[in-house]
Amino acid sequence: MTVRSLFDAGDIRREFEDAGLDPKFIPIIWKHVIQNLKQNSECQEWDWEKQVPSLPSAAYSLLRSKFKMPLSTSVHSVFHSSDNVTSKLLIKLHNGAFVEAVIMRYDTRLGKYGGKPRPGGLRSTLCISSQVGCKMGCKFCATGSMGFKNNLSSGEIVEQLIHASSLSEIRNIVFMGMGEPLNNYSALVESVRVMTGSPFQLSLRRITVSTVGIIHAINKLHNDLPGLNLAVSLHAPVQDIRCKIMPSARAFPLEKLMNALQEYQRNSEQKILIEYIMLDGVNDEEQQAHQLGKLLETFQVVVNLIPFNPIGTLSQFKTSNEQKVSRFQKILRGTYNIRTTVRKQMGQDISGACGQLVVNQPDKNFLQNAGSMTDIEDLVM
Ligand code: SF4
Repeated sequence: MTVRSLFDAGDIRREFEDAGLDPKFIPIIWKHVIQNLKQNSECQEWDWEKQVPSLPSAAYSLLRSKFKMPLSTSVHSVFHSSDNVTSKLLIKLHNGAFVEAVIMRYDTRLGKYGGKPRPGGLRSTLCISSQVGCKMGCKFCATGSMGFKNNLSSGEIVEQLIHASSLSEIRNIVFMGMGEPLNNYSALVESVRVMTGSPFQLSLRRITVSTVGIIHAINKLHNDLPGLNLAVSLHAPVQDIRCKIMPSARAFPLEKLMNALQEYQRNSEQKILIEYIMLDGVNDEEQQAHQLGKLLETFQVVVNLIPFNPIGTLSQFKTSNEQKVSRFQKILRGTYNIRTTVRKQMGQDISGACGQLVVNQPDKNFLQNAGSMTDIEDLVM
């Protein structure tokens, strides 16, 4: 029997329809599966009648014949930060490949709003992978250096949430792990629809998708997932620098990308998160801050400046020093009135840009430093 994920919504729906079964049973099955997995994550044998009560007998026959186990992936290992804030899950896919998902537990009292601690309490954000490797080849990114291996199915994406939920109650999702999510568009859309439906019930407003700027996908995103948060890895204010550090920019020229973002913002009426990795001597000069300010001044955006995290021999770039980052931030804020934050702990933080991971090199150091980052919820919501 091939290993399939019960959480591949399109797949299981087709099976149900072919068997003449009502798809209304699917979320009920998911709910029981999640509850049972939480209670018994080591489960080796799966007894559908026992684990999911009160289904029509044809549904049991279908489940037994098509799904030996409900999940197609397993947690290979979990790395916990020393301060208990961040946990990294190394997840093994049925084809033997690995992806990573990262949980960031955030205490609202660490953040300020209007000069006061934010209300709320503890909340967790999950950084999810959408592909094994990535074909976009950004020069500052470890994942890009791996090349592209394969797309994740929607079920494999959802299963990252299921695995993470056994460790922490997840409130926010960011597609900033391995891969370019908009290059795996149908699986992305389907997985987000599952996550926002029964029984997961996450709010679409608490899900953020990060992209290098795949224009044709941005053009349909608002229609397919209205209310979703969009983050764009811009990383340069002009086309030639963008092309140097992000080869994919040649296919998605800056001017066309900005037009697509304008349209997206007009339709969604939502802020866009702009990610900007600070590379010494490449994109961090005053002139570039002004160019970025002018480029963005008509948009509703939050700019997140991300000091580059060196990735060893995989990249020749250096991190911008603190003075340059702070001057860049001042120009965007002071001259252009653009809300601009600095990710101080980018050093080892994999959630900052989209996918700075190489799965066979789990880096425990980042876990010790990720705690004081600004939570995504405070940036875009
Ligand atoms: S930064 Fe994102 S899009 Fe670029 S190579 Fe890395 S994973 Fe791919």
